[in-house]
Amino acid sequence: MNNPNLIVDLHCHSTISDGLLSPAQLVHHASEKGVNVLALTDHDDIAGLDEARQKASQMNMIFINGVEISVTWQKRTVHIVGLNFEANNQNLKSHLEMIRQGRDDRAKRMSHALGLAGIEQAYEGAMKYAQSGILGRIHFARYIVEKGFAKDIKSVFKKYLTQGKPGYVEHEWASLEDAVGWIRDAGGAAVIAHPGRYDMGNKLYPRLMSDFKAAGGVGIEVVSGSQDPSQSHFFADMADQYDLLASCGSDFHGPGISHREMGRLFQFPNQCQPIWMDWHLSEVKIN
Ligand code: AMP
Ligand code: MN
Ligand code: MN
Ligand code: MN
Repeated sequence: MNNPNLIVDLHCHSTISDGLLSPAQLVHHASEKGVNVLALTDHDDIAGLDEARQKASQMNMIFINGVEISVTWQKRTVHIVGLNFEANNQNLKSHLEMIRQGRDDRAKRMSHALGLAGIEQAYEGAMKYAQSGILGRIHFARYIVEKGFAKDIKSVFKKYLTQGKPGYVEHEWASLEDAVGWIRDAGGAAVIAHPGRYDMGNKLYPRLMSDFKAAGGVGIEVVSGSQDPSQSHFFADMADQYDLLASCGSDFHGPGISHREMGRLFQFPNQCQPIWMDWHLSEVKIN
């Protein structure tokens, strides 16, 4: 079922969102690490897909269109990865634009909140790190480290940017139903990103799975750079139970700052149906 010649990574970030490598550099890096099926999944933005696709074709890799959409579900932030959609779809494009406007508004509110905590000009400071696309918490974190308020990115999140901390502001992202609907409308597959990161209990995970299924979602990241093998097994069982396909991705953000290197993911559980099973990848020559 799972072709061992395919080294698949369906979740990573470029400078279009909060990664450190440009789309072309990222594809080059993935290829060096042995990946031959790659999706670029920047947060709320698909502006890097053309550059990445072009580079992937030069490197003889299979490229899959991707995006990671920020969603608010039950007052929590959940990320939904969209895969293999039509990138010219106007409905998807205009709604992503709407989310990015919301992001910018959130960034201004974050900047104000950080100002009250003594960190001035944070919006302008974060902008310096947002190279071409969206403005996110990582860009603020880089500025806060630069200003010496914390020693590294991890401590900035802990001290300033997570719920209850001075630079954290509440934000309403897209609804789960809308995000899954836009991906489907563009002909793509919607996948729950890094489920192990949500820390939901015995009641909430089943609710998320059934709401997601009801909205038309089809997959879950059973293997993620931020999950260990025991979590892979846990979510493989959940995929079985809810009849979901399994995806895998590193969530790579750049060399030295990611949970796992590209091409070095934990094993894909045998019991799972890969999300790429009906993408006809085996018809493409992999060398
Ligand atoms: P945002 O979508 O702007 O709220 O930012 C979320 C991004 O911040 C995630 O995709 C990660 O890249 C990053 N992030 C979240 N929590 C942490 C953390 N504790 N340490 C480092 N990066 C984090
Ligand atoms: Mn990120
Ligand atoms: Mn995410
Ligand atoms: Mn991600």
